Amino acid sequence: DRPIVCIVGRPNVGKSTLFNKIVGKRIAITEDKPGVTRDRIYAEAEWLNKYFTLIDTGGLEPENEDTIMSNIKKQAEIAIDTADVILFVVDGLDGLTSTDREIGNILRKSGKEVLLACNKIDTPKTPNEIFEFYELGLGDPIVISGEQGLGIGDLLDEIVEHF
Ligand code: GDP
Ligand code: MG
Repeated sequence: DRPIVCIVGRPNVGKSTLFNKIVGKRIAITEDKPGVTRDRIYAEAEWLNKYFTLIDTGGLEPENEDTIMSNIKKQAEIAIDTADVILFVVDGLDGLTSTDREIGNILRKSGKEVLLACNKIDTPKTPNEIFEFYELGLGDPIVISGEQGLGIGDLLDEIVEHF
């Protein structure tokens, strides 16, 4: 089976934008899985001839009216259960939030491979603000702009290195 990469992060950090960017760039096959009624959240992707399944956990339909935090926790649990590599996306414009810290703690304790992507850095020069994300204890933030397509190649290089 192909390795599974799950994108995790609080709402509005740019998970879906990044998903579309990765999938649109090097897509092999895209198909909706049965039972998934919302956005297309699963897709087959490829980088440097390595194939993987990419999942946007933020597109999973909440079953009830839970709080945002409990939904995120569920998404993180799904990622921990299914992913070979977890891609934790944070928002470099907002900076580090308490929700990021909570997600970061859950992911770090899981012992899974976690890559930290600091999104919305839309200019080539990396701002000093991104250094606060080191506090999450998940290593070097990989600086990207899903919207502008910056840093995506480097991110994909790191992802496929973990397969
Ligand atoms: P999600 O809720 O995590 O799936 O986030 P979305 O992909 O829906 O994006 C949330 C908002 O952030 C949208 O308004 C996007 O246009 C914006 N956004 C996403 N990626 C970037 C980026 O790289 N730079 C900037 N400036 N905005 C972004
Ligand atoms: Mg989304």
